[in-house]
Amino acid sequence: MQKEKVIIIGSGPAGLASALYTGRAGLKPLVLSGLEFGGQISLTYDVDNYLGFADGTTGPDLIEQMSKHVNKFDAQVVFEEVTEVDLKNGSPFTVKTYGKEYQSEALVIATGASPRRLNVKGEDTFIGHGISFCATCDGFFFKEKEVCVIGGGDSAIEESLFLTRFAKRIRVIHRRDELRAGEQLKKAAFDHEKIEFIWDSVVEEILGDDKVRGLNIKNMKTGQVRHLDTEGVFIFIGHYPNSKLFKGQLDMTEDGYLITDEKMMTSVQGVFACGEIQDRLYRQIATSVGQGSGAGIMVDRWLRERGAF
Ligand code: NAP
Repeated sequence: MQKEKVIIIGSGPAGLASALYTGRAGLKPLVLSGLEFGGQISLTYDVDNYLGFADGTTGPDLIEQMSKHVNKFDAQVVFEEVTEVDLKNGSPFTVKTYGKEYQSEALVIATGASPRRLNVKGEDTFIGHGISFCATCDGFFFKEKEVCVIGGGDSAIEESLFLTRFAKRIRVIHRRDELRAGEQLKKAAFDHEKIEFIWDSVVEEILGDDKVRGLNIKNMKTGQVRHLDTEGVFIFIGHYPNSKLFKGQLDMTEDGYLITDEKMMTSVQGVFACGEIQDRLYRQIATSVGQGSGAGIMVDRWLRERGAF
């Protein structure tokens, strides 16, 4: 069994910030990256609200810079997915991946959040065949096509604007008659000739043959159901925290967000959490980096207080 001082689960901005701080503290952190290095940010195209990048940047560029930075300070990143953790007996904790077992004195959980599903008929069938949760990844495949976007938050509008580079027409289907998205994004979408809005409507079913051909939507006010022809359905209706691994071992909210104290510590001493796994409020790259940095500092302090050096 491989023994570590600190293992960080997750390689998004929160996990990498923890890696930077624990790396600079000389703890040689091991980052278990999961299957998607960089987490959600690697699926984000334009980033124009990360302080210090006045001209904007992209998610993949930013994560590459973060990764380079972390590598400078003795953090080891391995592409392994965690399958099981044992936190019941306290530190040292056991962490298993496919085929490997680790023991770590401290643990940082930065497993983030994943896109929420609609849970309607046809959704499972057509994921990857016209249904997407990432315009940055799949927008290119919808050149000159009609697509629908579901949702009314920042993600739905930002991704709709991205899709205008490719698609002929983007219809945003929102369950209310008012967007949740911020003013700037709203204005850009309302002003864009390729973007149209269908208000007060929810998806009832996604239809197709070998790929998506259309969907049925229901107007929440009138109850009327109508069919729309479309070849792409982009779903942006929020996220859920990736906390299944920790159920029954760590305190969490009813909807699965880990509960931390002001030191980013969870209900188990020595297990810290940062980023969207414990933050349902801010959910920004900057705040995840802040929380990850905090967790890194607190891991070092906690280990020193225990006399681990
Ligand atoms: P969000 O703010 O939670 O918005 C989710 C949207 O999906 C809402 O409009 C919601 O409708 C709708 N929705 C939820 N469940 C639904 C369902 N079952 N069927 C149909 N519609 C449903 O999620 P988000 O847009 O992913 O943003 C998450 C966080 O990241 C936010 O804090 C946001 O500010 C931030 N973010 C920021 C930026 C940026 O600053 N550039 C970009 C992306 C995300 P209701 O409005 O009716 O609730």
